[in-house]
Amino acid sequence: MLSSFRLLLLRNPSSSYRSLSLLKNQAYVDGKWVPSTSCETFAVHNPVDNAIITQVPDMTIEDTALAITSAKSAFHSFRKTTAKERSDLLRCWYNLMVQHSEELAEILTKENGKSLAESRAEIKYGNSFVEWFSEESRRINGEILQAPLRNRKLMILKQPIGVAALITPWNFPHAMITRKAGAAIAAGCTCIIKPSEDTPLTALALAKLAEDAGFPAGVINVITTSLKNSATVGKLLCESPDVRALSFTGSTPVGKILYEQCASTVKRISLELGGNAPFIIFEKSNVDLAVTGAMACKFRNTGQTCVSANRFYVHNKKFDEFIDKFMERISKDIKMGDGSREGVTHGPLIKSSQVDTVEKLVNDAVKKGAKLHCGGKRLEDLGPLFFAPTILTDVDETMEICGKEIFGPVAVIHRFDDEDEVVRMANSVPVGLAGYFYSEDLSQIFRVAGKLEVGMIGVNEGLISCAEAAFGGVKESGIGREGSSHGVEDFLDIKYLCIGNIQY
Ligand code: ADP
Repeated sequence: MLSSFRLLLLRNPSSSYRSLSLLKNQAYVDGKWVPSTSCETFAVHNPVDNAIITQVPDMTIEDTALAITSAKSAFHSFRKTTAKERSDLLRCWYNLMVQHSEELAEILTKENGKSLAESRAEIKYGNSFVEWFSEESRRINGEILQAPLRNRKLMILKQPIGVAALITPWNFPHAMITRKAGAAIAAGCTCIIKPSEDTPLTALALAKLAEDAGFPAGVINVITTSLKNSATVGKLLCESPDVRALSFTGSTPVGKILYEQCASTVKRISLELGGNAPFIIFEKSNVDLAVTGAMACKFRNTGQTCVSANRFYVHNKKFDEFIDKFMERISKDIKMGDGSREGVTHGPLIKSSQVDTVEKLVNDAVKKGAKLHCGGKRLEDLGPLFFAPTILTDVDETMEICGKEIFGPVAVIHRFDDEDEVVRMANSVPVGLAGYFYSEDLSQIFRVAGKLEVGMIGVNEGLISCAEAAFGGVKESGIGREGSSHGVEDFLDIKYLCIGNIQY
């Protein structure tokens, strides 16, 4: 079954696939490129100028049922593959992704708008999950337990849970898929990927590479849906007894709907939801380092990441220095524009509703007395979805922006005096994904790291994600961990085996 992908490993990478186009406009179900059974399509837009890139199938509930059947039938044989076979398959997929990095980055920039430099970084990051899980698949071991009786042997087996549904967002169209699919396949699961309606093309490109890597039909299915169909398609994925796990990355409100819907089949669920990351600069800290961290942490993907710094808290004694240096770096380092042009560092926001939200939050704050240091407005000369990098101070709780996940290039900066006070403010929200702080005081580092109610912490560092680390949140930011050795656990069942009456 898996011989074809082994062959590909041996081919000369640069000559075999140069001409392959990864821009697909059909969905991928049961190893075939298919339209929707309804024949409906929807348009994928380039956020830079709203131009239509292509149309893709608007898959329905009927198509979803077919994808579930395909994944279920593929699971019967795929579950029997050895860890080494799955490792080789993932490695082959990874090799093709590396080989096609530039084309993947171009597709990503087209549909998401982020700059080519950022897309290249995402492709590298996303690829690393497939490489990581190709290695991890060979380390999914069970356990031999000490038996309480002499004539028994007890053990724990780890088995693939079954068909996994993976629902992913638009802000990391590549990495959010590879982080989930890499883990699911390493575990021996088959999967149905439902990418965001805003960025289905990267998902289809990944399916094309999976096909070329020799994935058996039905192991990976990609169903593209418009927003109109997402709710019904999502409901079936949650409620079908043939789907045993759901892994979702997206907004907290949608995550809560899916959590409820999964209750009917007591499905394994992993949720990576919204964050509201505090970014704290203590008195004893290196402000230059903090500014570098803040630039990456606040403005990566034009502020549209769930681990973006969302609330800055700067010690009174460092406040003016931080603002001055942050402003200087913003004007020097950020060049907004069409992400496909070399030299552009930051692209537009993803859609008009996102720009409207950001603009409304900023206007409300300014109207109620917040101080605007820079930005604060759309950059219409660049295109309909650009918003300028913005710094706001003197923000208080009467303003809507206070405590809200902004998902845009807006830095809200508060002052503080006291460690307990800032930790209390940092923990005052119902979510807890990432948190960051800058301090040169070792005791303070351990004290504050212990107290922050988040799943991930960057100390003197603003970019912390990697395949080796456990990604995930606490409180309303989600359930489960992705990446690391823990990432496969959401796709595994534990089976206890007791062998009795052994004669000695
Ligand atoms: P965002 O607001 O950042 O776009 P969403 O949570 O709306 O985040 O979207 C994340 C993913 O969830 C996308 O693939 C989207 O199509 C999907 N989605 C949105 N609404 C639903 C729903 N009711 N059921 C299932 N999936 C949904």
